[in-house]
Amino acid sequence: MSSPVVAAAIPSVSTLKSAAQTSTAGFDNANLVFNVDLFLVAFVALFFLLSLPRAVVRYTHSSEWFDGQLLRYVTLSKSRRSHRPETLPAPLTAAHTHTSRTPTPTSTDWLNDSEKYMDNGGYTSASHAVLNRSGSGSSQAHLLRNYSSSSGRARRAHLNLQSHMPNWTTMLPQLSWITRISLRPGLTIGGASILIAYFAVMLYAGLYMSNPFTQPLRTGYVAISQIPVVVLLATKVNVLGMLLGAAYTRLNYLHRFAGRLLVLAVNIHAIGYFYSWSLAGTFTTQMAKPMHVYGFVALLAADALILFSTDFMRRQYYGTFIVMHVIGVVTFLVTVFMHSTDSAPYILFALAAYMFDRLMRLVKTRYTVARLCALSELNMTRVEVQGINAGWRAGQHVRLRILSRGLGLFGWMECHPFTIASVSKSHNGEGLILMCKKTGMWTSRLYDLARRAEYSETNGYSQEVKVLVEGPYGGPGHTLYSSFSGALLVAGGSGITFALGVLQDLLQKDLEGRSRLKCIELVWSVQDPSAVLPLLPLFSALLAQSSSRPYYTTVNISVSYTRCFSNPPEHVSKTLSRLPPGLTVTPGRPKLQSTLASVVDRACALFHRGRENVGAPAGVLVTVCGPQGLAEDVRKAVRRIEPERRKRAGGVELHDEVFGS
Ligand SMILES: Cc1cc2nc3c(=O)[nH]c(=O)nc-3n(C[C@H](O)[C@H](O)[C@H](O)COP(=O)(O)OP(=O)(O)OC[C@H]3O[C@@H](n4cnc5c(N)ncnc54)[C@H](O)[C@@H]3O)c2cc1C
Repeated sequence: MSSPVVAAAIPSVSTLKSAAQTSTAGFDNANLVFNVDLFLVAFVALFFLLSLPRAVVRYTHSSEWFDGQLLRYVTLSKSRRSHRPETLPAPLTAAHTHTSRTPTPTSTDWLNDSEKYMDNGGYTSASHAVLNRSGSGSSQAHLLRNYSSSSGRARRAHLNLQSHMPNWTTMLPQLSWITRISLRPGLTIGGASILIAYFAVMLYAGLYMSNPFTQPLRTGYVAISQIPVVVLLATKVNVLGMLLGAAYTRLNYLHRFAGRLLVLAVNIHAIGYFYSWSLAGTFTTQMAKPMHVYGFVALLAADALILFSTDFMRRQYYGTFIVMHVIGVVTFLVTVFMHSTDSAPYILFALAAYMFDRLMRLVKTRYTVARLCALSELNMTRVEVQGINAGWRAGQHVRLRILSRGLGLFGWMECHPFTIASVSKSHNGEGLILMCKKTGMWTSRLYDLARRAEYSETNGYSQEVKVLVEGPYGGPGHTLYSSFSGALLVAGGSGITFALGVLQDLLQKDLEGRSRLKCIELVWSVQDPSAVLPLLPLFSALLAQSSSRPYYTTVNISVSYTRCFSNPPEHVSKTLSRLPPGLTVTPGRPKLQSTLASVVDRACALFHRGRENVGAPAGVLVTVCGPQGLAEDVRKAVRRIEPERRKRAGGVELHDEVFGS
């Protein structure tokens, strides 16, 4: 860009008439890129309208206005919350985690622990129901009986079921079949189509009545016009996400793509000028001008941003990526402004969006105490925050900062995202629980800190630390998980945190008469079968809960382990030989296709009695959280469901969550 023009807050098309804005006689570059941004707003508005019916249905439930916004502590009435368990469920306390200090759980410990959990935690007092459970077939019959009984009908009249509104993509099954095809891990045809459309709009903005080689000014305008887009897509308290009902994590790929296009435009702009100055023999004199020096620094900052934001950098050196991002963005914005004041409105808009985000993040931050304990079989640290027990939705995550020297001198500076594994306003009095897998330096230090725990009568082995918990973020958006008829929750490794959060929430809603779900299948893929041990009491309690009352959703849990042992340790094989009904642990990969088909069929079967229809299923929900490979397999399984089956179930909807995407 060649000379300063306006300092207005928003570029007023009529006032931007400087010759500096024109690449061809009379052509207004500022006007064009401003209109292109308006077109992008219209594009977002289209998706907003498509998601509006679902948003309207969501907000007819008053709880949806408050849940998932601010973390808090609420005092639960006795009717909602049973007595605080004196001992927390064994899987998650230190009692079973320090194998060196405590005896290994015996094969019957799961039963004792789950009884303790339920009796103390108030899920149900009928804990022995777990012994009477006899698999999905009979529980289906049991459900059918209850569905059709007159007392059942009377009870349903008092329920406050969540209304179901299918997603617009569910209403166009052929379209969603195509859009779900994966092009590469993490990118479907649907996602790629949006990128292509965006790219086409940028091409138009860059090329319409302009030659990038001879008129490089235009690409400079295209670059500055995209600054607000890139910043908006990067915010955690994401206004676009709120409008579209999508978590910021889902918009992240768009942020990366828009950022790359912006840097491409900056480079074309700079190279064009370098080329023409070289031809004219004025390169040195032009480069000596302050505005071009600023422009050159902006170019270097933009290129450095791209270099330090590659997948490799993000995965291997996340800390460096974040530091370089901050330095790069600040340098870029300041120098672009010095280079051309035409960028002012766009930079101001971006700054406003960024400041709003930071302010809201501050509002969403809680300073409190957390208890850490190491779960050795899972290689995880359990973080329990008793001071927060409400304010999130199933599937949401928080960003955790530990204020302890135990994580190294600069450990307190790092903030890491973890999915909430417990349920808001839990009936058993649990607070916010996170389960953090040991993957890199920070999580390993956290685990080591937890292992240095002290023993206390009330808490077992645990370590208390001061923490900042920021959130909640992400989650299901406008989707109401409990408004579906059936659910398949697939988890891989540490993705179990997501599935546990969702499962417990669905069971709690069921208990409160707010869930339509009739059957839930949890599939967990792990490497080592011993990973089941720490979660066994919790699984047992959830299974018992689901089978102990007439209207409870039936739950089945199947764990598949990929690393087979010819001789698993004795305590593992002993425990695996006496699993509670409803829980299976088998070697090999999970059978996703047949499991999904069975969930769909069970969800449908509950709406038919002989030839008679008793209502219509409200769709089947599939969630997956874990490695990319597993998410791809689930996506394939969802796509392969026969159209007839899919239609009978009222649609099959997929929600995927990949850590670190
Ligand atoms: C939305 C979301 C929810 C998550 N939920 C869970 C969970 O419930 N349980 C669990 O065990 N893990 C979860 N993770 C992954 C967890 O955040 C990382 O494993 C952890 O941050 C690794 O930190 P590290 O320094 O020990 O490892 P590193 O070796 O530094 O990083 C390992 C991986 O984690 C990513 N990562 C590192 N730091 C961050 C950060 N500050 N923000 C985002 N990504 C980062 C890196 O890209 C890298 O791929 C979640 C991630 C996301 C994005």
